[in-house]
Amino acid sequence: MALELTPIDRGLVLVISGPSGVGKSTLIAHLRGEVPDLGFSISSTTRAPRPGERDGVDYHFVDEARWAADAASGAFLEHARVYDHGYGTPRAPVEEAVAAGRSVLLDIDAQGAAQVRHTLPEARHVMIVPPDLETLRARLLSRGTESEATVARRMALAREQLEAAPAYDYVIVNGNLAAAEAQLVGVVLAERARPARQGRVLDRLLGAADR
Ligand code: ADP
Ligand code: 5GP
Repeated sequence: MALELTPIDRGLVLVISGPSGVGKSTLIAHLRGEVPDLGFSISSTTRAPRPGERDGVDYHFVDEARWAADAASGAFLEHARVYDHGYGTPRAPVEEAVAAGRSVLLDIDAQGAAQVRHTLPEARHVMIVPPDLETLRARLLSRGTESEATVARRMALAREQLEAAPAYDYVIVNGNLAAAEAQLVGVVLAERARPARQGRVLDRLLGAADR
């Protein structure tokens, strides 16, 4: 059940990256079950849906022409080609969330995260890493959604993601699932506790103290 938390007055934009198959979707699903009011940015992608994925829920599944037009018109907050497909974060929902003080999660690759560091400097960045590369390969295979060739390609590109880890605010090793889940929840709870997000409560307390 979700924790009962005092609302914050400035939303958190949390970027979550990591090699394919490391467990990002699994950890994000758990996080959203624990912490209330965490929106998820639904990316556009040119890749085909996996079994069980729903258009408009997991991704907006679009064709190359649509993706290129959105990239050219500035409709994406960031965009990148990953594993030969186009991916992009629609700008408007993230900007609306920030303006309204709501928190939002972005599951994007390291190229996209680097763009967000420039366009949205207040965002926080978490990199999820596997305990070792054999575990990563086993998870990609166990998911059963990728061909052998796709798994090999994703393994080859895992290194590019991992090399970007020092630029992130947090690195979480997803070995034991319960431990990684707890760490990710911990990051969000710690970020919520920053004084910059607690203005209303502090104003109320200080106002009361003045009387
Ligand atoms: P990503 O979103 O990073 O591509 P997924 O969340 O789809 O990765 O996870 C890939 C596979 O690994 C899934 O089958 C998932 O159930 C499994 N998995 C995720 N985290 C762990 C973990 N800590 N231990 C064992 N299996 C895991
Ligand atoms: P998948 O195809 O396995 O869902 O995602 C492949 C990779 O693309 C992952 O590293 C994921 O984080 C990244 N990704 C998903 N959406 C976006 C996006 O909107 N922008 C960028 N830059 N990467 C994304």
